[in-house]
Amino acid sequence: MLYRKRQDGKVDCFLCARRCLINDGATGFCLVRKNENGTLFSLVYGKAISASVDPIEKKPLSHFNPGALVMSIATMGCNFRCQFCDNWMISQEKNIDGKNLPPEQVVKAAGENSCQGISYTYTEPTIFMEYAYDTAKLARQVGFFNTFVTNGYMTPEAVKMIAPYLDAATVDFKGGADPEFYRAVSAVPSVAPIFEALKEMKRKDIHVEITNLVVPKIGDSLERIKELAVWIRDALGKDTPFHLLRFHPDYKLTSAPATPVETLEKAYVAAKEAGLNYVYLGNVPGHACESTYCPNCNELVVKRYAFEIVRWNLVKDMRCPVCGTQVAIKGKLHAGGHGLPYALF
Ligand code: SF4
Repeated sequence: MLYRKRQDGKVDCFLCARRCLINDGATGFCLVRKNENGTLFSLVYGKAISASVDPIEKKPLSHFNPGALVMSIATMGCNFRCQFCDNWMISQEKNIDGKNLPPEQVVKAAGENSCQGISYTYTEPTIFMEYAYDTAKLARQVGFFNTFVTNGYMTPEAVKMIAPYLDAATVDFKGGADPEFYRAVSAVPSVAPIFEALKEMKRKDIHVEITNLVVPKIGDSLERIKELAVWIRDALGKDTPFHLLRFHPDYKLTSAPATPVETLEKAYVAAKEAGLNYVYLGNVPGHACESTYCPNCNELVVKRYAFEIVRWNLVKDMRCPVCGTQVAIKGKLHAGGHGLPYALF
């Protein structure tokens, strides 16, 4: 999908914003798309490296079908080279591996495990688009929703292609979207395509939640976080949930410490001051900022602990029980979730 053949045997891939020009016999930057005699093949179609049942709150999606369970799948490969990747064993490995799990089997597994949706996650779903696309189409036919957890480095063409089947997306920023951070830590030349992809998602009416990984010292600028929050407010709307995530040392970036909670709290205040209604702190289980508060009267309306909903305090039509303000949550509450993920493999 989304490539063009050239007369000299090379191909242009325009699935993600890297827009690789790939020689015959070579793979693209993501390592999972290969030019074989002028035809671009996905090397990971139907080859899941991971399949797990997750609470939707783990994505994180806090304003979309709360309490739902999602069948989460990933293949190997990625179009980023984040030095802090906590899934580097599957995202950066050159030898392609995976278990044969065709789209029909993914959908079947979702049903057998009482899921309400499918999530394409852990590695970058853009780079396994054909697999995600076919699965999402089938999933939709039997009533499941589909969500991406993505770095957002997609072309507008890719967003347009998956949009008819994509219900929600978590788009992950790092370091407050600082272009220098992206260049130095993730080998990404420009952040501009992420903003373009987000605008396209908005046009396509895909429910979007934004995360930002706050990395101590090199990616924790309050000005950057505030700028990002202002952009979200103006381009996507003040009801867009914004999750500020705690960093923990991993892979090649073990010299930086975990993000101090005070840093996250300052970032929370900055994002609220920018005018966003729903700001969250992530990876800090038990923190009050995991929960949802009414944007009008500040009543606690959804109390969470990590990925679990421990108290639901909204009344009919997602309204605050105190002042009646409608809280921007799509879908419905799926009761019965215990907030504990488990892996199929
Ligand atoms: S999907 Fe892979 S091959 Fe295509 S442009 Fe992105 S990194 Fe390059």
